[in-house]
Amino acid sequence: MNTRDSEVVSGLLQKSGHKICHDPAKADIIILNTCSVRQHAEDKVWSEIGRFKNGKLIGVIGCMAQNYGQGVFERSPNVSFVVGPADIEKIPGIIARLSKDKAIFERKIFETEGECRPEEIYHTGFYQDKNHAYVVISEGCSNFCSYCVVPYVRGGLHNRNHKDILKEIQAALKKGITRFTLLGQNVNAYKYDKVDFIKLLGRVDAIKGLKEFSFITSHPRDTSIDLFKAMNDLGKLKKYLHLPVQSGSDGILKLMNRGYSRKFYLALADNYRKIVKDGALTSDIIVGFPTETEEDFKGTYDLVKAVRFSAAYIFKYSSRPHTEAFKMADTVAKEDKEERHKLILDLQKGISKKNAKKPD
Ligand code: SF4
Repeated sequence: MNTRDSEVVSGLLQKSGHKICHDPAKADIIILNTCSVRQHAEDKVWSEIGRFKNGKLIGVIGCMAQNYGQGVFERSPNVSFVVGPADIEKIPGIIARLSKDKAIFERKIFETEGECRPEEIYHTGFYQDKNHAYVVISEGCSNFCSYCVVPYVRGGLHNRNHKDILKEIQAALKKGITRFTLLGQNVNAYKYDKVDFIKLLGRVDAIKGLKEFSFITSHPRDTSIDLFKAMNDLGKLKKYLHLPVQSGSDGILKLMNRGYSRKFYLALADNYRKIVKDGALTSDIIVGFPTETEEDFKGTYDLVKAVRFSAAYIFKYSSRPHTEAFKMADTVAKEDKEERHKLILDLQKGISKKNAKKPD
């Protein structure tokens, strides 16, 4: 999502006369599009901001902007503007205002009040890749998983009109782009008027000239047998599903507010393998969630062993401000998180290696 948001901002700025400069030392304006999903991502941004000398216009946008608000200016006085994810269309105007002001480094502009992005921002026609485009189908998320900051920084789920999505794809095709990834925090909850996610997939698949497409990310609770059937049947849709499980313990899944059980997930994975021929299945896993016991962890370990993901991204839990889990004591010791992380990582590495060796 942030990769696409950066493109959107680049597209808007280019439309208003700016040029992309690949060397930060030579750039007049530096914009850091930030992520708040883990503490580590934020730490990198704070140290990155410090590297830029005065004399440049520095902006912090994205989830950290929303999360820290005016606090960004206090921590990093060289920052001139802070813009949340729902206000990115205002960036060219903010830069114009700041650039006119001789004392730009004295002024601070702060915009984190927006609720909904205007549709036009997705139609600047700028994509970094000449062959592939990310197309946002929905913004935000209303699931409120207890560890996740997304609903607080990106707002509730908002689906784009399917007509606008198809229009964006058609315009990109005219530029020669033939491969697409449909994007959203929870794509399979998509619904606009009578068009749900499966219908949208069918409409994208039917676009003339489009060669291949995929989607990310899906929520297990919104994943169905019908989706698997569509994945198998639609000729241009990649047989790839990223389906974050997060934990293999029912107790932890409940505390995470994920809305499904271990049994439900295992059945989904099983059906996916049966229905989607040669389909790849990947996942996200968090170890060390508050109260996670050895037994809970074993549940996750055994699930990874049973499902045999094509790949899995394993994270050590870090508490995020505003979230429900932030209110819980971070009970799992750092060393235990590290050990559990390593155990699952090693297990998955072994599985991935064996999968790679499988004959076609
Ligand atoms: S579904 Fe994903 S984006 Fe939405 S709250 Fe849960 S983890 Fe966050």
